[in-house]
Amino acid sequence: MVSKQLPFTKEKITEIIRDNPTPFHIYDEKGIIKNTRKLKDAFSELNGFKEYFAVKALPNPYVMKLLMSEGFGADCSSLAELLLAEKTGIVGENIMFSSNDTPAEDFIKARELGAIINLDDISHISYLEEVAGLPDIICCRYNPGPLKEGNAIIGNPEDAKYGFTREQLFEGYRIMKDRGVKRFGLHTMVASNELDPDYFIETAKILFELIAELSRELDIHFEFVNLGGGIGIPYRPDQEPVPYDVIAKGVSEAYDEIIKGNDLHPLKIFLECGRVITGPYGYLVTTVRHLKHIYKDYVGTDACMANLMRPGMYDAYHHITVLGKENDEATKLYDVTGSLCENNDKFAIDRLLPEVTRGDILVIHDTGAHGHAMGFNYNGKLRSAEILLRPDGSFVQIRRAETVDDYFATLDMSGLSDFE
Ligand SMILES: *Cc1c(COP(=O)(O)O)cnc(C)c1O
Repeated sequence: MVSKQLPFTKEKITEIIRDNPTPFHIYDEKGIIKNTRKLKDAFSELNGFKEYFAVKALPNPYVMKLLMSEGFGADCSSLAELLLAEKTGIVGENIMFSSNDTPAEDFIKARELGAIINLDDISHISYLEEVAGLPDIICCRYNPGPLKEGNAIIGNPEDAKYGFTREQLFEGYRIMKDRGVKRFGLHTMVASNELDPDYFIETAKILFELIAELSRELDIHFEFVNLGGGIGIPYRPDQEPVPYDVIAKGVSEAYDEIIKGNDLHPLKIFLECGRVITGPYGYLVTTVRHLKHIYKDYVGTDACMANLMRPGMYDAYHHITVLGKENDEATKLYDVTGSLCENNDKFAIDRLLPEVTRGDILVIHDTGAHGHAMGFNYNGKLRSAEILLRPDGSFVQIRRAETVDDYFATLDMSGLSDFE
C-alpha cells in the first residue's frame, strides 16, 4: 500500500495561495529529481542508456531544464514542442522527434535542430526526403499488430494508428540504406500507464529479436533501440510503483542473450517516458466553492476538467486529499465536480471523503503528467497557473494563469460594428 503523502503542509499552501489564487498545479522539484536519479541508477547497467522526457506530459521549460540537467533529452511530437526544447537549450540528438501524420514544417524544424527523427510511416521516408532531406540517422516506429496485447488507453496495436507493420520495416530500412542513411534506430510504444514490469521486458525482447532479423537480412547496424514510454504510476492508493530495477534487469538479460548473442553489441537503450517521470509529483490545488445536495451530494470546486481532463476523458482515478483533514475519517460520499457544463466534469464519483465545507482546500494527486497540458478553453474556461516547489521550500510561478484577455486574444472584433 502506497500512502498518498503530500510534499507540503497546509501552512505552505496557504502561504502560496496568498499571491497565487486557486486553482493551480504545483510540482515538487525534490520528488522529481529523486525519481530521475532512481531511474538513471536502475538503468545505468544498460548500454548507452538515455531517457528522452516526453514533453507532451509536462511542456514547461523550467521542468524540462531540470530534467536536462539530470542528463535527460526531450521527446517531442510537434513544432511547438521542438521550439520548447530549443528554447530550453535541448538540441541535436538530445531531441527525439516522435510524431505522426507529420506536417512538413515539423520535419524541417527537426532537421534544423539535428533531432533524431522517429518515422511513423513508410511513406514518410520519401516525404521527409522531399521536404527536408534524409538525415544520416533515422529511427522507425514499429506497430507489432496482433503480436502484443494493448490496453484501455491505446487499444490493441492492430487498431492503433501508429507505426510501420513488420513487412514495412524490412522494406523501409532497405530503402533508407539505399538512399544513404547510415545510422539506424528502432522504436515502439504500445502501452500506456502500464504497471507490469514484464510488459516492458517483453517489448524489449520483441525489438531485440526484430533488430537481429533486420540486421541479418539487410546488413545494417542498429545504433539504438527506443523502448518508448508508457510506464505507469500508482494513481490508486492500493497500487505499487513500477520497480525500475526489475525492468532494467530483465532488459539487460534479454540484451545479453539476444543482442550480444547475435554479435550486435553495442546497441544503446533509450526510453521516452513522460508520466512516470513527473506524474506523481504534481498536484492540482483547488478550493471548494459550493456544496450541493440533490439526489447525490456534490462538492463544487473552483477547478474543472479544463485543468485536469483525465477523469472525464478516461474515467481515471485521481486521489483527493482534503487539506488539514488528512486524519479525519472518510465518512461522506461525494461527487467532486468542476463548473463546466458537461456532466463528465467530475474529478471523482462516489468518493468517500471527510466531511467537506465551503472554503476547504482539496489537493488532487498525480497531476504532474498529462494534467495541465491537456487543458482547453471549452465553455470559456481558463487554464490555471503552474507553480514549482523548490527543494528549499521556496516556490516560483513557472506559468501564469490565463486571463479573459488571453481568451479574446485570437478574436479581432474591429469588424464587428459594420458586420451585418
Ligand atoms: C505519449 C507518448 C509518450 C509518453 O507516454 P507516457 O505514458 O507519458 O510515458 C512517449 N512516446 C510517444 C510516442 C508518445 O506518444
